[in-house]
Amino acid sequence: MSILPQHKYYLTRSSCHDLWHRNRVICSATTLTPKPKFRPNQPATEPQLVKPPNLVTPVSIPPVLNDPSLQSTWSHRSWVATGCVTVLVPLAKAVVGAAHSHIWLEPMLAGYIGFILADLGSGIYHWGIDNYGDKSTPVFGNQIEAFQGHHKWPWTITRRQFANNLHALARAVAFVALPIDLACNDPVINAFVGVCSGCIMFSQQFHAWAHGTKSKLPPLVVALQDAGLLVSRSQHAAHHREPYNSNYCIVSGVWNEFLDKNKFFEALEMALFFKLGVRPRSWSEPSTDWIEEIESTSQDAFH
Ligand SMILES: [Zn+2]
Ligand SMILES: [Zn+2]
Repeated sequence: MSILPQHKYYLTRSSCHDLWHRNRVICSATTLTPKPKFRPNQPATEPQLVKPPNLVTPVSIPPVLNDPSLQSTWSHRSWVATGCVTVLVPLAKAVVGAAHSHIWLEPMLAGYIGFILADLGSGIYHWGIDNYGDKSTPVFGNQIEAFQGHHKWPWTITRRQFANNLHALARAVAFVALPIDLACNDPVINAFVGVCSGCIMFSQQFHAWAHGTKSKLPPLVVALQDAGLLVSRSQHAAHHREPYNSNYCIVSGVWNEFLDKNKFFEALEMALFFKLGVRPRSWSEPSTDWIEEIESTSQDAFH
């Protein structure tokens, strides 16, 4: 028996948007029956093409013009507003506490450590949802699905509205940091929590800017990217290229080189594999689920 795999792409014309979309065909297989042995007094039969079961499954389709999945809802905006309050309260408390105690160095240092650790945290979180679980995973399912879609169609992040892009992390920040805000009056801890949670919450905006075009980004953003205070466009572009397992950090990207050089995530993946038997998605590379599709004609309609 021989199986002939055929990986195909084909174009279909969308009826509702009158735009061309590329749909992906996972796989189809043509199975040949084995050639029967010739026996006397038996009519010879030709090998027959056996029609395979229908394995043609169009997978998710890229978001289109005015796609609701890219737009902010009032729920998204409420969570982002709550997240902003959660970030601003400890920052204000840190400034007031520092002014009262005349101690500025420690809170500033704590804020700086918060900024550095937020980048590491963003990398670990990004690596986790890129490599493990799926859309049915409790709590993280939506984020996992969104990041898988992002690898397929990276440009969509630049079309995603602000609150739509930030609401999931804003919600996490509100749940984790708000109790600390209320319980703590130490300016050092407040400075750390305010800066760290703020950078985590806005990491998706920094990520979106890393996908921007230099000429279209605000000059201040470009300056911060060039200074290494925000993740650079070139560094993040490497995350979207083979072997698809580097440059996970998306706040400043300051950790990326160190983590990748020392194979930090590869070591974590091995540890998880030997302990729990789970394989990260990046080991199946190059997988069609991660390979970026070229921006289709439909996306040009956004401009
Ligand atoms: Zn990723
Ligand atoms: Zn990206």
